[in-house]
Amino acid sequence: MIDIKKEIKKFKNVSSSQDDVFFQAMEEVLLSIAPLFRTDDIYEKNAIIKRLVTPDRIIKFKITWLDDNNKMHVNTGFRVQFNNALGPYKGGLRFHPSVNEGILKFLAFEQVFKNALTGLPIGGAKGGSDFDPKGKSDFEIMKFCSAFMTELHKYIGPRIDIPAGDIGVGGREIGYLFGEYKKITSSFEGVLTGKPFMFGGSLMRTEATGYGVIYFTKTMLEMENKESLKGKICTVSGAGNVAIHAIEKLLELGAIPVTCTDSQGTIYDKKGIDLELLKELKLKKRLSLKEYIKKHPKASYIPISEYPKDGHAVWFIKAYAAFPCATQNELSITDAKKLIENGCICVSEGANMPSTSKAVDLFIENKICFGPAKAANAGGVAVSEFEMSQNASMQKWSFEKVDEKLKITMQEICKRVALTARDYGVPGNYVDGANIAGFKRVADAMIAEGI
Ligand code: NDP
Repeated sequence: MIDIKKEIKKFKNVSSSQDDVFFQAMEEVLLSIAPLFRTDDIYEKNAIIKRLVTPDRIIKFKITWLDDNNKMHVNTGFRVQFNNALGPYKGGLRFHPSVNEGILKFLAFEQVFKNALTGLPIGGAKGGSDFDPKGKSDFEIMKFCSAFMTELHKYIGPRIDIPAGDIGVGGREIGYLFGEYKKITSSFEGVLTGKPFMFGGSLMRTEATGYGVIYFTKTMLEMENKESLKGKICTVSGAGNVAIHAIEKLLELGAIPVTCTDSQGTIYDKKGIDLELLKELKLKKRLSLKEYIKKHPKASYIPISEYPKDGHAVWFIKAYAAFPCATQNELSITDAKKLIENGCICVSEGANMPSTSKAVDLFIENKICFGPAKAANAGGVAVSEFEMSQNASMQKWSFEKVDEKLKITMQEICKRVALTARDYGVPGNYVDGANIAGFKRVADAMIAEGI
């Protein structure tokens, strides 16, 4: 019988340092699915582990573009097409200086299971570039997006691979990418999701990930017989698409989100975050969160230079529920200990893998209601699939219809994960529940499709 721990070691020995986050994600999944290998040898016979942790292909390309002073720049672009057993490759594009092959491999790997959990016919991929959109003019963003698409268009298509947004890629970037694809291919088709509404975007795609996290959490708290979020202090990290819409939905439900963060610092506003101001600063003006206290002098701004050792200020604030919505590994073991000490009963991940492995283990040990990213933040990709359906049938659904379908999808994901955890003898462990449920869908499809 296959020894999962030995398999993990083998992969660790051959992986490069860039693969650290990929290895972290892979190890978590493999440890969760180990019990499946004890009762049935079908996965071993079909070499599923090796096949599942190896991407179908990694595409890497050069992007050359001119800035507003006609200075030439070169960046690297990637698309990791990880697995298409359940449907065409689907997953976002990230533009951030930290992007490298290892980060995108991890994100694409996670996306495979996340997409499987939605129950929708989509495979997993991720892509992006080490291009830094910060401080660039609109025109430079457009030129970069055009140059990026000049290469990427060769590998994507509405039945092949349908990219979307992620960190640094929102409606503006998707619009420019779509425009270039259309120009090169002379084809108006649903090749990207997260498009502006006027040319094929779905209503609610922008809000979907953040709203979805809160719908998931609401269901998880109900299933675990915990008090609802109404009237409760919540902490949120991030100040981008996911964080802003998680805060919006928390406010709608009567919760009190008191924090948000960006890459430079944390805002703590006891009265509750001023959502309109946050949107204006981050979505319209793209400014630092430091500006927030100019309008709300009683709120505090904590710069990263003042963060606790090995921790993040946001998780040191007392809260009933915490929502990490910025980036990977932004919630450390030190943060997890502090959250538990301060009475936090629920952590739900809006970002991809924001909690370190040790933090996750501590949450599980302490019976915290823990919603792992691949389940909790699947709302974005679910609405992306709704956008694909609308594009394919030339329809436009109402906001209410998309919202209702999103709500149902998140409730179903939550129940599927909770029931799988119960079936496999780990009730309340949503990490194992999500990994096993996602794995079974993908692995069974791979076996049914042959080698
Ligand atoms: P945005 O680019 O809109 O916002 C990201 C936010 O996180 C910004 O406030 C940014 O700060 C902050 N941030 C980024 N990198 C770091 C870092 N290294 N350290 C500290 N803060 C950082 O991205 P999204 O909101 O779209 O994505 C956030 C997370 O959610 C990511 O993990 C993404 O993969 C995940 N996700 C997103 C989905 C979507 O639909 N957009 C779907 C599913 C998951 P600053 O403003 O200073 O740049």
